[in-house]
Amino acid sequence: MKVGFHRSSRVLAACVLSVMVFALTACGGVGASDDDRKVVLTTFTVLADMARNVAGEHLRVESITKVGAEIHGYEPTPGDIKKAAKADLILDNGLNLEAWFAQFVADLEVPHAVVSEGVTPMNISEDAYAGKPNPHAWMSPVNAQIYVDNMVRAFTDLDPDHAEAYRANGEAYKTQLGAVRDELVAAVSTLPADQKALVTCEGAFSYLARDAGLTEKYIWPVNAEQQATPQQIGSVIDFVRQRGVPAVFCESTVSDAPMQRVVEATGSRFGGTLYVDSLSEADGPVPTYLDLIRHDADTIAAALAGAPK
Ligand SMILES: [Zn+2]
Repeated sequence: MKVGFHRSSRVLAACVLSVMVFALTACGGVGASDDDRKVVLTTFTVLADMARNVAGEHLRVESITKVGAEIHGYEPTPGDIKKAAKADLILDNGLNLEAWFAQFVADLEVPHAVVSEGVTPMNISEDAYAGKPNPHAWMSPVNAQIYVDNMVRAFTDLDPDHAEAYRANGEAYKTQLGAVRDELVAAVSTLPADQKALVTCEGAFSYLARDAGLTEKYIWPVNAEQQATPQQIGSVIDFVRQRGVPAVFCESTVSDAPMQRVVEATGSRFGGTLYVDSLSEADGPVPTYLDLIRHDADTIAAALAGAPK
């Protein structure tokens, strides 16, 4: 017993020591001492990835919300506010995506840029949001190119010394965005006309559906409530039955239970999980925005064509 006690105190002492060493290393590694880059804070992971492509090595880009977070109804923590106060630039999507954002930045001295500026918004046609802009403009890679132009401008204002790098990074990334848009259109173009219908939980795919030539139908317009009414589910069931839609989808940040009710009522298949409001972790299916568009295009095209999941 006594030997065991001594052994565990030695282990404990070693642990304490390694924690102290780790803390010292962490302070030296993550602190400002060897990373004096300016900090760009984005509201969600999709914007952070786009911003990293434009910033390259010259800026440190972080996201306020974590992977998988529900972005529309997010409630900022005191830690978020502290982090934002220390940032050099904040990027938000705008178009009423971040309902919590205006209040969040009201008392901060930090400059902020709205990356959707210049996008032609598509309006929501249903429910309480009728007539308001659909915030999910990034789901069009063509719009994403406008986001990139806005980021290049904001980063150039923030850090004029690297203006040329931001311009070149932005151009290179816009070429990749153009290519992924072509892939999206090609993936959907092979489907028969009557199968070009995209049924999802949130009305988050208006811009993507427009680019790809898909007719869109959804249960609720914006994730803020996530409470499907019987009327909303009934309307989707009617649409799926009338058009004989072979597969329906739901997004990674919400429960697919309401869509499973559509599946049960219609015999349509559940075609898979789509990504829109968040990327996945690095080892998941959509660690980047380009992966997100490719994943959604492939999932939609395969399920609507009747390919096995
Ligand atoms: Zn959304």
